[in-house]
Amino acid sequence: MSVVGIDVGFQSCYVAVARAGGIETVANEYSDRSTPACVSFGPRNRSVGAAAKGQVVTNCKNTVQGFKRFHGRAFLDPYVQSAKSSLVYDLAQMPSGMTGIKVMYMEEEKVFSIEQVTAMLLTKLKETAETAMKKPVADCVISVPSFYTDAERRSVIDAAQIAGLNCLRLMNETTAVTLAYGIYKQDLPAPEEKPRNVVFVDLGHSGYQVSVCAFNKGKLKMLASAFDAELGGKDFDEVLVNHFCEEFGKKYKLDVKTKPRALVRLYQECEKLKKLMSANSSDLPLNIECFMNDIDVTGKLNRGHFEEMCAGLLAKVEAPLHSVMEQAKLKKEDIYAVEIVGGASRIPAVKERVSKFFGKELSTTLNADEAVARGCALQCAILSPAFKVREFSITDVVHYPISLKWNSAAEEGLSDCEVFPRNHAAPFSKVLTFYRREPFSLEAYYNNPKELPYPDPTIGTRTNTCTCSINFVLLMVVSEARLLGTLEDGKQEKNHAPSAKKPKVKTKTVELPIENSLHWQLTNDLVNLFMENEGKMIMQDKLEKERNDAKNNVEEYVYEMRDKLHGVLEKFVSESDRDTFALRLEDTENWLYDDGEDQQKQVYIDKLAELKKLGQPVQERYIEAEERPKAFDELGRHIQQYMKIVEAYKTKEEQYEHLDELEMLKVDKQVNDAMIWMNSKMNAQSKQNFTQEPAVKVQEIQAKTKELYSACNPIVSKPKPKVEIPKDEKEEQNGPINGQEDTDAQPGSPEKGAAGSTVAPESAEGNKLPQMDID
Ligand code: ATP
Ligand code: MG
Repeated sequence: MSVVGIDVGFQSCYVAVARAGGIETVANEYSDRSTPACVSFGPRNRSVGAAAKGQVVTNCKNTVQGFKRFHGRAFLDPYVQSAKSSLVYDLAQMPSGMTGIKVMYMEEEKVFSIEQVTAMLLTKLKETAETAMKKPVADCVISVPSFYTDAERRSVIDAAQIAGLNCLRLMNETTAVTLAYGIYKQDLPAPEEKPRNVVFVDLGHSGYQVSVCAFNKGKLKMLASAFDAELGGKDFDEVLVNHFCEEFGKKYKLDVKTKPRALVRLYQECEKLKKLMSANSSDLPLNIECFMNDIDVTGKLNRGHFEEMCAGLLAKVEAPLHSVMEQAKLKKEDIYAVEIVGGASRIPAVKERVSKFFGKELSTTLNADEAVARGCALQCAILSPAFKVREFSITDVVHYPISLKWNSAAEEGLSDCEVFPRNHAAPFSKVLTFYRREPFSLEAYYNNPKELPYPDPTIGTRTNTCTCSINFVLLMVVSEARLLGTLEDGKQEKNHAPSAKKPKVKTKTVELPIENSLHWQLTNDLVNLFMENEGKMIMQDKLEKERNDAKNNVEEYVYEMRDKLHGVLEKFVSESDRDTFALRLEDTENWLYDDGEDQQKQVYIDKLAELKKLGQPVQERYIEAEERPKAFDELGRHIQQYMKIVEAYKTKEEQYEHLDELEMLKVDKQVNDAMIWMNSKMNAQSKQNFTQEPAVKVQEIQAKTKELYSACNPIVSKPKPKVEIPKDEKEEQNGPINGQEDTDAQPGSPEKGAAGSTVAPESAEGNKLPQMDID
């Protein structure tokens, strides 16, 4: 089982994993821990993340970003309709009425559901986790904004399923941050003591979330949370974009909003400017070359002016702060610290307002960008049986009060009851029993629609056709509401035992999921179809990557060879062959920009093979020439080594006197043969031209060295027979006696060479040659 936490942000996503005993945020293929929430569609493939972000300007109509908040929303939803006007890509209505994204993909117009688009992003994040962990990933915890309603959450779960992820839990972004904060704190008050109350403020790209949480050793309890779903970094960007659109309209007579490409560039530059203004209060420039109609534009702004323009947005910072304090019934003195996270919390005016509200310096002990993902990974680790995590209990809250309403044919009108008030602990189960003999329907809904950042308060309805009494169990998980049914069979069971008087009640538990009567929910069939399609698109991306790689290989080979033909390879190819090869390389280069621009993978593979037929022999001659002297050297060293030993044996040196005479004759002969072989080969080679096939190959020389070693080494490295040391002498010595030591120091022995290096005919690294040190 994998332990993975995923923060799917409006702008950027993060993946954290449990590894080497800790939680680690992992980097993508660009060595970046942040992956843009961006998907780009092309004529042959999709690109996701950083690669897609790179196409925001060049392929703006088919590059999709800023789609996080379309989850679970109908196309006609007011949020979707208003967001639509500032998008450069198209939205469309799905057959179900939900929001879809219309793009050109594989040269066809396609509409993808929002779940599919998020699934594409999740596929990428899943791969990032898999690459980091070097194993397949399925189990994970994914974050969602705390203000998401049931419909939005279900839509994210469907997206995870389409991406082949097993989302163990959806975690509120706020709760993830509190967990990332609390689990490492060693100095929390004991369980019976007054808890430590900490406020968390997260200002992301699209949303503003505030929560207050009570910590004790080993546990956290969310007290309250509040939000402004329409305040985030992007709204500050919007202010800048509108400002410069107006300015450039006047100054250059440009209508920026009519040109998607220019608008996208302006958004990028304004975001950069916004970030710069966080660090610098002086006038800062905004320059874009060739912005529209070949016109270069320039503008400037400073922080003071920017803050004036954003007064309306900044005024929205306080309300949620106020709300959480009021809900939790806390005074400012009760707050131990105010932690801020989320990219846009770096705006100085935002920090100022939060700090002023609490009359406190703000804390930044958490990583502002990665805390959500880390919290999710911690939650995943807690849920994973395979992972040991410090005991830590997490109590979240219900963000919107939930009621049930029901009717039946027998009753007049509707009844209802609030089952979960605001800030009720979650997860939590309540059992509500309804005795009905008639069919009736039950509806769960958010009972305060005004505060919902979503147009439909309905969570789910269940129409029951069963005529027996039913127990409904409404199970509130942080992420979802489910209905389970227990069927009490009212019929008396026949009991033949004479002693039994009371009839037994047979209880059958039947799962009664919320009926799929809601228009926004994907059907199982559709989820399966989308999964299948995602698989096909992954395959298509893979094939396209292979095709591109094959093409790049041809291109690279052309450039490499062209350079080398006039460099290191020059003397290894005859002039006429060089001209032919150079011409072929040039033709291939032209072909790559022409007919070869867009070919099947195999065409590129064949093209490369053709070129290599010409280039390979040249390269081989070059490599042979480079390696040959080293190989001859090595053989020469071996020859010398064994000659020396033969010499020493002949002069009856004590060290070698135990060696066998006949065998030493064999060594003598081998060495002589090898020397003759080497001399003849060197001689032959010296007559060869560099452009000709070598007279001897490096491999042959190496084989000769090996042969010599195998024949001679066992003979010359035979150990001296052990000498028995008389008993009393033995006792005089300190420590263990090692009779081997005397004989070990022979030069050329397989265990120890003359200089003590290990000598073996084949080392563990493979076909490495024997190494011997000769003085
Ligand atoms: P959300 O939480 O709404 O889903 P997100 O998680 O993708 O969005 P973050 O990554 O937390 O958002 O924040 C991104 C926002 O922070 C962007 O608007 C970005 O411009 C802004 N931002 C990042 N750094 C700075 C900075 N130094 N000054 C001002 N704004 C910044
Ligand atoms: Mg975020």
